[in-house]
Amino acid sequence: MYSTIIAKDRKGVYTFLNMDEVDQIRDKTDIVSLISEYVTVKKAGRNFKANCPFHNEKTPSFVISPERQIWHCFGSCNKGGDAYSFVMEYEKVDFPEALRMLAKRSGIELSQSRDTGVTSSQKESFYRINALAKEYYHYILTKHKAGEKALSYLKKRGINEKLIESFKVGFAPRTQDGLVKYLTQKKKHNIQDVIEAGLAFKKGVQPTDFFWGRLIFPLVDHRDNVVGFSGRILDNNSSVSKYINTRETLVYHKSDHVFGLNITKESIRRENQVIITEGEFDVMACYKNGIGNVVAVKGTALTEAQVNLIGRFAEKITFCFDTDKAGLEAIKRSIGVVEKKGLSPTVIEIVGGKDADEALLKNPTGFKKAAKEDVSVYEFLIKKALELFDVNIADGKKKFSNETLPYVAQIGNEIIKEHYLKKIAKELDTSYESIQKEVERIGKKIEKTEVKIDAVSKRPQDEILEEYLLALILQSDNRSEDLKSAIQILSDTGIAKKSQHKIMDKLSEFLGKNKKFDADKFINTLPQELLSSYDTSFLFPLPEFSDEKHYHNEVEKIAKNLKTIYVRERLKEVSEEIRQKERDGKEKDIEKLQKEYSALVANLG
Ligand code: ZN
Repeated sequence: MYSTIIAKDRKGVYTFLNMDEVDQIRDKTDIVSLISEYVTVKKAGRNFKANCPFHNEKTPSFVISPERQIWHCFGSCNKGGDAYSFVMEYEKVDFPEALRMLAKRSGIELSQSRDTGVTSSQKESFYRINALAKEYYHYILTKHKAGEKALSYLKKRGINEKLIESFKVGFAPRTQDGLVKYLTQKKKHNIQDVIEAGLAFKKGVQPTDFFWGRLIFPLVDHRDNVVGFSGRILDNNSSVSKYINTRETLVYHKSDHVFGLNITKESIRRENQVIITEGEFDVMACYKNGIGNVVAVKGTALTEAQVNLIGRFAEKITFCFDTDKAGLEAIKRSIGVVEKKGLSPTVIEIVGGKDADEALLKNPTGFKKAAKEDVSVYEFLIKKALELFDVNIADGKKKFSNETLPYVAQIGNEIIKEHYLKKIAKELDTSYESIQKEVERIGKKIEKTEVKIDAVSKRPQDEILEEYLLALILQSDNRSEDLKSAIQILSDTGIAKKSQHKIMDKLSEFLGKNKKFDADKFINTLPQELLSSYDTSFLFPLPEFSDEKHYHNEVEKIAKNLKTIYVRERLKEVSEEIRQKERDGKEKDIEKLQKEYSALVANLG
């Protein structure tokens, strides 16, 4: 016997959800490994911590509990939940879609979608269409006569069969609607979907292929979904643009995407470094030469979304942009977002070519050496500025500092910042103090333009202390002892019990009956309305304590602080009651209240 619920998805399609499957999928999904596919997680005691993906922060307040299989952010966004809610929040999808995604991930086939043929989401349908198009283009390039010229072009550029296979390079033939026919007639996809996926457009009434006579690089995300394509012409002298990309679709957003990550992510993780180039050929050339930790960005500067994505795999971001002016500008415009994310930016100084591809073709040993000897981006900017300006004259000094200080001012680490400021001061033959002043001025300007997302939450102090105290008890190695002290301190305050106190009472009862604390068993004794308070404290990130004695002292200190707050609160209530009774002339009650008042004052100590 299983229960069924009905959920409506974005397109208004009703899905019948088998709750057994919902639970089964949740059980099969390890929340720590799921979330670590999205953000870098680090072990912190019994829990895991990460920088929250849902609000901007530099110190992690996002906590994941492997025991409870839940997550919670203690930062300003204050979000939390289980595996489903994480996927819904991160992927911006509704519940049925999150279910489908997690089902696929855990290898469970959903019975309802099979039986009733409920249409799966549009995103997934685009992924399937794109995957078929990838196969089609790849087939044309490698097996069809129409791909011969393109194939020999690739060979000339040093792209061998193995690379063509790894990156699934393809060719879009010069036919009016070869791909359209393949997708609609042979694979029975709806023409509207093919158009919306960005692979065709309507010329009059006739649907036409979007890519014509171009080399095709599939754009694949890090979860192996084909999201779009990049097409390059074979003839550099042509009047049309050298590259065109799939236009923005439901699944392709140019500013979010990096090329190659699906293939290179493991190497990036291993090296803890990602080399960023400007094009597909650069990525393939590096890959061919044994430099596996590489991606390409289409477009000029790195976006915040791209940095968030690659920041999940590596802490060091190494620019390997073209050696022209545009490449330098792109580096400069990327520094801010890289620093903001707390990652360290470096540069490969390309010699013997305008980009990685050319340099590797002409002098592979030289490039590999430069790649190993990547320099700090600030070092690089200072060097470039020295080449451009004469720092012996006033005008040169001004230009040099304009070209370097705004970037150095953004460095998060104070020690590194000071290092480069001193270097700049030396180059300019000026005092460190005057450089500092200038940086302060620039810093103020940068701060002003930045939008402050983090609002400090103003919660009452007692609420925070209640959460913290329960956290100390729940996460304690001497749970019984700490609990006993806290309960004793907090007795007789006359205040109505908060949910944290109710949990403490339940815990005391539980520990009286059970020798060992078993989180799952204990949760079963809690009523539904206490669960969220429990989870919050269970995950609450505690500071480090040097030893058990300090830990226990903290428990007592917080309990006493809370007690003081409660007693003061109750004193206010009692004096209000006394005034009321005086107005009503109820002598007898007043006497009783006055006794309580004295007792409370004594209790304050
Ligand atoms: Zn958050």
